[in-house]
This record gives sequence, structure tokens and C-alpha cells, in this order.
Amino acid sequence: MPTLSRRAQSLGTENAFVVLAEVNQLIRSGKDIVSFCIGQPDFATPAHVQDAAVEAVRGGKHGYTPSAGIDELREAAAASMARARGITIAPQDVVVGAGAKPFIAYAIASVTDYGAGDEVVFPVPGFPIYESQCLANGAVPVGLPLREARSFAFDPDELARTITPRTKLLILNAPQNPTGGVLSLADLKAIAAVLERHPQVWVYADEIYSRLVYDAEFISIASLPGMQERTIISDGASKTYAMTGWRIGFTANKQLAPVFTRWITNTESCASQISQWAAVAALNGPQDAAETMRRRFLARRDLIVRLLNAVPGFQCASPGGAFYAWPNVTEACALIGAADSEELRKRLLHEAGVAVLADIHFGPRVAGEGQHIRFSYAASESAIEAGVGRIAEFVRRATRPPRK
Ligand code: PMP
Repeated sequence: MPTLSRRAQSLGTENAFVVLAEVNQLIRSGKDIVSFCIGQPDFATPAHVQDAAVEAVRGGKHGYTPSAGIDELREAAAASMARARGITIAPQDVVVGAGAKPFIAYAIASVTDYGAGDEVVFPVPGFPIYESQCLANGAVPVGLPLREARSFAFDPDELARTITPRTKLLILNAPQNPTGGVLSLADLKAIAAVLERHPQVWVYADEIYSRLVYDAEFISIASLPGMQERTIISDGASKTYAMTGWRIGFTANKQLAPVFTRWITNTESCASQISQWAAVAALNGPQDAAETMRRRFLARRDLIVRLLNAVPGFQCASPGGAFYAWPNVTEACALIGAADSEELRKRLLHEAGVAVLADIHFGPRVAGEGQHIRFSYAASESAIEAGVGRIAEFVRRATRPPRK
């Protein structure tokens, strides 16, 4: 038999998709499940964006585009990313891809050498693709623990201890998946100060949730003095405009733009032209639909945090951005006799009919930080009330009497 490469065998995955398949299977078999698994807005793509896509198809705009994207979208994305960060971005430094996700692989492959011991530092818990793309590209993955006591930012002193002469890339993600944490200006300044001592390190600023910030202004590491040149800014249409399936993401970095363009020529050729015209309408058109969605997410955040804190054994900090809640469930596990958050997750699914993800789906559990589960609150208010109500009832029902 022909065999598979070690690379193929070691390739990781995004467990949200695995759990989702399990949940869908249960739903198909007639089980009533309230799902908080999926990280995508539950709203419709704004109507004027849909119209732009239809117009593109009807107008014959459906062939290949340049690999870096159509000029109109590169210009719109440059202007939008620059505005949100208070910096200047040239359209020729912007590359459009089929979502923000592919750029994670392109960035790692572009700044590390296979098997050379080049290290990539990224947050844990974090988006699982960071680690799996390190492994696939022969880089050394180095997790940097997030601290609940610091509102799920990492400690800059820990960053200073983690970066070595072999570190080639630091991945930042704010607002963060899965914790909803954001990075404060003080944190960003501390990170920039550490990086100043390590000029060989690139920064990948995964800012796909940049427009979903609730309690403060969004700040990017790229807006700090001296940081833009070495920072790959990554953003996209998926989360801001409810366009996950349209597959439009964009990055900005002067030196890497031609490299990313070449990667795209080697892989998908270009992002869908139809989606690109839709994204032009999303970025250049009225922003009220995006702002309405943000306000709805904010209301849902406040609702889910309040309800989760009323569940016995749950403690939920209020996340500053994205659409994820990350309650500490250490006590709830103890109450019901679950060994860990993964056992709690399974019991919630099978005994309470509620689907969530566990911390282990986002990297190894951080020692000393307890047990957590992830809720995506991109779900209706009524689903949030029903789902968390089921959980509260389940924990009460399953709580074991204290040992005498
Ligand atoms: N980065 C993070 C942190 C994400 O959560 C996601 C989507 N779940 C992505 C990147 C990918 O976004 P896109 O749909 O634009 O590929």
C-alpha cells in the first residue's frame, strides 16, 4: 500500500468542526440540542452585500482575479484596516485570501524553515490552527499561557522568558478565541518593549474580531511605534459582516504581501471574485448592519455572563470582545463528580442537551488555571436562556451530596 507522509499524519484539526459533526448527528437522530459550538454570526449577510454579489454574477464578474485580489477590494480593505488602527496602509501591501485562515499557514511557512528548530509563539488556550500549521510546516510550536487573573492576557514577563533567538514569529489574537480576552494598551506596550529586544521576530496580529469590541476602543499592536513594519495584520469579512461562508480575509504587510500573493498563486489562485465584490460593498457601504450586529452581541454577552454566573459552580468573567464566553467550571466539575471539563462537556451534551466546547479543544490545559468550557453566544437570546437554563438545572440535579 502507498503510505501517508508524517506531515499528513501529524496534521491537527479544529475540534469545533469535529464536535459539530457529533452534534449534527445527534440532532439528525431526533435529539433536542441547544448548540453554543459554532463560532460564526447567526445573522444574515447584510442585504446590500448580497445584492452586490448577485450583480457581480449577472455582470460577468466571475472569472479569476489577480492572486492578491481585485484593486477595489485591496483599496477598501487598506482604508478600513488603516481607519480602525489609526495607521496608514498602502493598498499594494494588502493581500486578499479565501478567509483569514489561510494566511496563518502562509505566514508560518514564509518566516520559518522546515525542521530548522524555528519557534512560533502563540497563546494557549488559542485557535488550534496555530499549532497544527506549525507542525505541518516543520516549525516548533511554543504555547504561551493566558492568565484568567489578567483578563485572559498573557503576562509580558512570561513572553520575555519564552522568546529565544530561535523565535521567528509571535502570534497575537485579540479579541481572542476562545476566551474573548482583549489586549490593553499597557499590555501591547509591554509586548512591544519585549519585541524591541528581539528584532528577528515577526508578529502575526490575528485581528479577525477587531470590530467586535465592547468596553473599550480596539487597539492593534501595529499602531505602536516601530511595530507596523514587522506586523502582519490579519482581518476579514467573516465575523464583522456575517460572511463566514463567503471566504474573504485580508492581510497587510509590506514585505510579505508579494510572498503571500505567490502562495495564493500556488494554492487557490484567488479568492472568489463574486465574494470579493460583495466584500467591497460590505467595506465601502453603510456600516449600520455591522454596528447593529455588534450591539446585539454585546446584549447577548451581558445576558449569557449574567446567566452563567447564576449556575452553581460556574464563574464567568465578562469578555471584552469576540462572541465567546469562557466560564471557569472547576467547581461545577467537583459538584457533579466530573473528572474534568471534557467530561462535563460530554455530560452537558448527552444529559442536558447543550453543546459547548471544552478547553482541551484549544490546546493543552494551562496548569493552575482550572477547567473551562467555551460558549459561542452567536445564538439567539431565547437559545441562550433555554440552554443555560438547562445547564443550571442539570448541575443542580447531578450535584452529589457532600462527603460526610
Ligand atoms: N482566526 C481566529 C482566531 C478565528 O477564530 C477564526 C475563525 N473561527 C479565523 C481566524 C478564521 O477566519 P476566516 O473565516 O476569515 O477564515
